[in-house]
This record gives sequence, C-alpha cells and structure tokens, in this order.
Amino acid sequence: MEYGDMTLFCADLANPLAGFFNVGWLGGKTKFPEASVLDSDIEQLKSLIFLPAFRSCHFRISRGFASCPVCNDGGLVTSVIHGETRMLGDFLILLPSLKRGEYFVSPSLILHYVEFHGYKPPKMYIDSLRALNEGDAISAASIFNDAVSNNAG
Ligand SMILES: [Zn+2]
Repeated sequence: MEYGDMTLFCADLANPLAGFFNVGWLGGKTKFPEASVLDSDIEQLKSLIFLPAFRSCHFRISRGFASCPVCNDGGLVTSVIHGETRMLGDFLILLPSLKRGEYFVSPSLILHYVEFHGYKPPKMYIDSLRALNEGDAISAASIFNDAVSNNAG
C-alpha cells in the first residue's frame, strides 16, 4: 500500500482516522523525499522496531513478511541491530507525536526505506522519534482499536 506522508490513516477502515498520520508508506511508484538521516535517528528507529521495551508500540502483527516495493524483488527484508540480523515487514508501528493525542502510523519497513533507499521521514516524525523514551512505550493496539471504535459512529 502506498500513502503520502502525513495523510490520515485510512487503509481498510471506513473513515480516515483523525489524529493518525501515515508516514513511510512507500509504494515504489511515486517519488518520495530523499535526504540523509542521522545515524542516531536510525538507531532510535531500530530501537523502536526491535527492542522489547517498545514492543507494545507495534500492532497489526502479521504472520507473513511484506517485501519491499522499491526493491521490487519479492525478497525478505532485514536489518541489523547489535550485530544481529532481524526480519522486517510483519507489523505496523504507532509512534506518539509530540503533539499530544496524535500518532504516526508506519510499516516496520520504514527502517529499510531510511537505511537503504535514502527515504527521509517528515521532520515532525523525527522530532517525535527523538523524544521517545522507553518509559513512553504506548499500548498501540488498544489506542488504535479505541480510535477506530470512536471513529465508526
Ligand atoms: Zn527496498
């Protein structure tokens, strides 16, 4: 699925979800913002994706792994943290925004897009990522499901 950065998350929902912004949904067709991202920001993104402390920020965990639409080779996508190779592409990440009550929704492949394709997420995403501490880990599934329930009516 390809969605523009900072559009409201909609995916398979009936209505776009207010306060939930798409970031990093590359599709391989449309040009995306390219610029270098600081190593420290990439490390923080790796922490959000791979460290157990942030596991509750993950939701919609799937059994299969999505491949990269930019590489477009159907292959499995991996990244390395602390010398260990790990798979990407089987869940979404909910990152709390610095703006209270707002969130960014990204596929875990966002790390691969940043590391290998030079994709640069919006400034607000990076600022929010920098501000995230282990103690701030959120319960993504319940926050998301509550928002969807409230949005339905
Ligand atoms: Zn790729």
